[in-house]
Amino acid sequence: MPELPDVETYKRYIDATALHKTVKKVAIDASDLLEGISKTSLQRHLRDRQLVSTRRHGKYLFVQLSDERWLVFHFGMTGRLKYFRDLDDTPPYTDMLIEFDNGFHLAYIAPRKLGMIGLINDTDRFVRQRQLGPDAMDVTLQQFEESARGRRSAVKTWLMNQRVIAGIGNVYSDEILFHAGIHPKANIKDLQEPQIKRLFEALREVIHTAVNAQADPKKMPSTYLTPRRGNAKQCPRCGGLLDQVTIGGRTAYFCPKCQSG
Ligand SMILES: [Zn+2]
Repeated sequence: MPELPDVETYKRYIDATALHKTVKKVAIDASDLLEGISKTSLQRHLRDRQLVSTRRHGKYLFVQLSDERWLVFHFGMTGRLKYFRDLDDTPPYTDMLIEFDNGFHLAYIAPRKLGMIGLINDTDRFVRQRQLGPDAMDVTLQQFEESARGRRSAVKTWLMNQRVIAGIGNVYSDEILFHAGIHPKANIKDLQEPQIKRLFEALREVIHTAVNAQADPKKMPSTYLTPRRGNAKQCPRCGGLLDQVTIGGRTAYFCPKCQSG
C-alpha cells in the first residue's frame, strides 16, 4: 500500500518526467474516484494547462497546474503512476490518462479503486480539512511527544493514525516499531519518555532510508524488516522467527524477542 516513501517516490517521478509539460487531453475511466469534481469539469480544467510543481503531505500528492489550482492524488491500497510514450504501453486498470503535447502520457492506475483524484485551490486548507497531522518527514520530537500525551491505544494504531502523523501505514509502522524495539501492541500510554524518543528516532531513520531506497524493499538495508514480510521469515537482528498479529484489521509483523519493550 502506498505510504509516505512510495508517494514521495511518485512525487520525484513526476518532477523528473511530466513537470512543465502541457496537457493536451485527459481520459478518465473511473469517475467514482473523482472527489468534488465531475469528469468533464476536471478534463476542462486540465486541458492546455502545464504541471508546474508538486507537493506531498502524508500519503497525498498535489500537482500544481499553471492556473494555480492543484490536482490531488491519493493512491488507496495499490495505486501508482506511469509516464510513457506509446499508447500500447498503457497499463491495465488505468483510471486516468493524461496526454501531453510532447506525445507522452501519464497514467494514474488504482486497480482496487480505492484511490482518489480531486482538484483544489489550496493545499494547506485541504490538509486542515482532512485533519492531517504533521508530515512524517517533517514532524518534530516536540510535536511527536505532544501527540503521544494522553493517548491510549496500541502504538501501531497510533502511528498509523493520519491525524497524529501523516504518511505512515501498515508496512512502515512495523518497520519503525522493529527499529525501536517496541511491541506493536504496546499501549502508547505505557511508553516511557526514552521509548517515545527511541520511536521518534526510528521513525526519522526508517522514513529517510525508505525514501532513499525509493520504497523498494530490495534496495533497503539487510537489517530491515520490510523485505522479510511474509510467512516463516527470520528476524534480521536475532535470527529468530518473526511473528504476526492482527491489530485494527491489519497484519503486523514483528520479532517477539527483539520487540519486547
Ligand atoms: Zn529478533
